[in-house]
Amino acid sequence: MNDLIGRVLDFKDRVFSAQSDLYARLATDGQSPKALMISCADSRVVPEHIMQAQPGDLFVCRNAGNIVPPFATMNGGVSSTVEYAVVVLGVRDIIVCGHSDCGAMKALGKEDVLKHVPNVAAWLRHSQAAHKVACDCYPTLEGPEFERAVAMENVVAQIAHLRTHPSVATAIAQGHLALHGWFFDIHAGTVQALNGETGRFQMVREGEPMPVALAHEVRRAADVELMVAAQ
Ligand SMILES: [Zn+2]
Repeated sequence: MNDLIGRVLDFKDRVFSAQSDLYARLATDGQSPKALMISCADSRVVPEHIMQAQPGDLFVCRNAGNIVPPFATMNGGVSSTVEYAVVVLGVRDIIVCGHSDCGAMKALGKEDVLKHVPNVAAWLRHSQAAHKVACDCYPTLEGPEFERAVAMENVVAQIAHLRTHPSVATAIAQGHLALHGWFFDIHAGTVQALNGETGRFQMVREGEPMPVALAHEVRRAADVELMVAAQ
């Protein structure tokens, strides 16, 4: 613990003083992050590190399994963070980031493990769809490859949950918000991104457009002009 306290003092003396202009500006002007990143609480998956973000760049929500409960199933921290980011901060992008070797994903379906952590077990119900998809649709995979498939399907499931939130649904319909699904590989330091058109993850490569789960685009189901003409 003393080591951790020492780091705080070192932050003030060395890191903060080197960025005091940035902090002064943020303290005066407030924050205007462009993206919300929802990632796992795993200590090896650090959104600001992966994104090389500065203070003020990124609104972050971390929890076990990078989960977004569907709207109305519970009033909790994730739902409130999403709503605040979209309505008050007006973020233009939400990134759901899963990762390799995820303890939460590995625990899914393991009743002997989950019976000791009832809160985790209840929380992971929001990932049951991903686990079932992996069990039924990837029958030849096992071990780390299976867990990888669960983690990727979990990103897909949580993006679907995100769209049940009224603030998110509205911003999508207005074309103000894009959704991204990422998978961070701890061993390789690489990010794969979900391509919403193919439904598959693909490697993010320099010089190629970043795959997007749902792009910025006005999405209105009803054709207003036709409705007006019919009246
Ligand atoms: Zn994890």
